[in-house]
Amino acid sequence: MRAILTYHSIDDSGSPISVAPAEFRAHVRWLASGAVRVVPLAEMATLPADADAVAITFDDAFENFAAMAAPLLHEHRLPATLFVVSGRVGRDNAWGDRPDPRVPTLPLLDWTGLGWLVEEGIEIGAHTRTHPHLTRISPAMLEDELLGSTDEIRRKLGMAVREIAYPYGDVNEDVVVAARRHFVRGYTTRLQPLARDNDPLQLPRLDMFYLRGPGRLESWGSARFDQHLWLRAQARRLRQVLTGPAGGW
Ligand SMILES: [Zn+2]
Repeated sequence: MRAILTYHSIDDSGSPISVAPAEFRAHVRWLASGAVRVVPLAEMATLPADADAVAITFDDAFENFAAMAAPLLHEHRLPATLFVVSGRVGRDNAWGDRPDPRVPTLPLLDWTGLGWLVEEGIEIGAHTRTHPHLTRISPAMLEDELLGSTDEIRRKLGMAVREIAYPYGDVNEDVVVAARRHFVRGYTTRLQPLARDNDPLQLPRLDMFYLRGPGRLESWGSARFDQHLWLRAQARRLRQVLTGPAGGW
């Protein structure tokens, strides 16, 4: 199985975007144990469909990534990609159209902090400029959110960005067409491992919200893991039918 893991914040709040530090440490121990191959995100797409591998991603670029996650990842030489909201760098995640009141407001890394992480080998991806629901904005705004984010990251960090994570996983055909002009790969919140025939601009990821709990990630590759994933995906789909599209954070 090939899958991309999505973390947001490493903190003890228990919110839907949070994984507790102790649990994250357990994940890192397991990921570093050799139980599964951990590859850089860009490499994942080049692996054969039957490879057994994960890539690690973090959305939003919270300050606690630098404080809690990066040192552990660095220590164990685990690659990771950080998806940056370029217009919110150095501020916080009070985006305005946040769908879940349980999500705490937390500080985001500034450009200096992001620069240090890049020097340590952390990969950077785009997560738009202001974190909107991309299906709800005008074509001109959509272009500004996509192209604008790559421009800002290039100006501030001096690097070309080839990958985007869509805020809330909110994507439709128009968004994909626009994203294809500026990015090589795009990541959704669709709760699935990678498949042989994924559109590179609509790659699924496993949000760690759905893999919380002792031993859950560590059951990777077992029938229990597959069944859990399937059940959570069904429940999530049902919730989206009831409450509208674009679940996730
Ligand atoms: Zn986000």
